Amino acid sequence: MVAKRQENMVEYEPVIGLEVHAQLLTRSKIFCGCSTAFGEEPNTLTCPVCTGQPGSLPVMNRKAVEFAIKLGLATSCRIAPYSLFARKNYFYPDLPKGYQISMYELPLAVDGLIEIVSQGEKKRIKIIRIHMEEDAGKLKHGETPGTASFSFVDFNRTGVPLVEIVSGPDIRSPQEAGDYLRKLRAILQYLEISTGNMEEGSFRCDANVSIRPKGREEFGTRTELKNMNSFRHVEKALEYEIKRQTAVLEEDEEVVQETRLWDTSQGITLSMRGKEEAHDYRYFPDPDLVPLRIDEAWIEEVRRSLPELPDEKKERFVREYGIPEYDAEILTSTKAMASYYEETVRLFPDSKTVSNWMMGDLLRELKRDEKEIDQSLLTPSHLAEMLSMVKGGTISGKIAKDVFEEMYQTGEKPDKIVKEKGWVQILDEAEIAKTIEGVIKANPKLVEDYRKGKEKVFGFLVGEVMKATRGKANPKLVNEWLRKKLKGA
Ligand SMILES: [Zn+2]
Repeated sequence: MVAKRQENMVEYEPVIGLEVHAQLLTRSKIFCGCSTAFGEEPNTLTCPVCTGQPGSLPVMNRKAVEFAIKLGLATSCRIAPYSLFARKNYFYPDLPKGYQISMYELPLAVDGLIEIVSQGEKKRIKIIRIHMEEDAGKLKHGETPGTASFSFVDFNRTGVPLVEIVSGPDIRSPQEAGDYLRKLRAILQYLEISTGNMEEGSFRCDANVSIRPKGREEFGTRTELKNMNSFRHVEKALEYEIKRQTAVLEEDEEVVQETRLWDTSQGITLSMRGKEEAHDYRYFPDPDLVPLRIDEAWIEEVRRSLPELPDEKKERFVREYGIPEYDAEILTSTKAMASYYEETVRLFPDSKTVSNWMMGDLLRELKRDEKEIDQSLLTPSHLAEMLSMVKGGTISGKIAKDVFEEMYQTGEKPDKIVKEKGWVQILDEAEIAKTIEGVIKANPKLVEDYRKGKEKVFGFLVGEVMKATRGKANPKLVNEWLRKKLKGA
């Protein structure tokens, strides 16, 4: 059996498309004036509109539209002059109206792209569409001791504005999926239209995945993966699902089109329900909302307000700071990291040295602690100060590593750390001369040997001087002065 399977071994290629929901950072909800604040008491941020009371009418939030246009322009989409809100009908306890207001046939933006760099290769991922919609509420399942099980519903999130970004089926590996998501999140953060925070649910991703024999045009049957709440889980869920589908096809069975849930604790995907089709939702244009018209003037106004985006910043970093493209790619991968770099270089204008310390020591520490750069205790001014101390000779490059570690852990200023630990490099020539004098006096035999031409004792004498200064003498000065002293005197 095993032999037979190996004979028929086909190489499969995954085909992945991602649907991302990002919460827009408006202060009020999409169709009413309720606040969008996160973490408030349940059901305190609601009104008749977002809880679907009879007779209430939705009113479009202009800021939300502006944010969606920004995203469309930043991803090279065409902004539709005319888009339409539709009702997506389904029942669920977190959806008080019995339908979600979304865009269906006429989305706000279409036909864009996002360029990613995945394992050193540049690749363009097509953006099929970006549309706006409202979020649903949140169910909380719990149990009260001694009574039956309860489920609670919190409508604070109902009506919070979302954009859904639908990629083309252009992604070919879990790693690429992760790189695409990181880039998309960076764009949202650069635009300041979303926090991109996955833990708080402001950036959520569903994945469509299928496999096909390598080289074949036609797509295989796909499954939709849900419930992945970190980039790592998206990659893991995709890896699992690709393996699972491969095993199904290798058994000569068929992949079933369905929605599957990622189970974080077990690390597997589980069948949740058969895939629903669009017609199951009975979409129709929302009669309470007028069509959304966006004229050229508004688009141009938004275009002028666009900030420097990751790709542009990367190019500028290469041009302005003369750092390699690889460094620039990483340093611009988040807005916070790019600002950190620029601030440090402004204070210590040696762009490559700053890049080396950030890409090496700083990122390694952050990765180990699973922290973002804006959570770092070590500030750009402290890093710049420390680099100046190395350059000025106050501390050696070796000691700098220890100072760095200490700054990172405590957030203290480098001069304070160096003083407290007694790490200042001795540059004072008089003090070094005095120590050399002492070492020469204490080792008359060795000094004589050296003067007779025994070169190798020189290293030992240098070592004695360094020992006497507890490693804080500048080695270059010690070498120069000791040689002079041994020859001259
Ligand atoms: Zn409301």
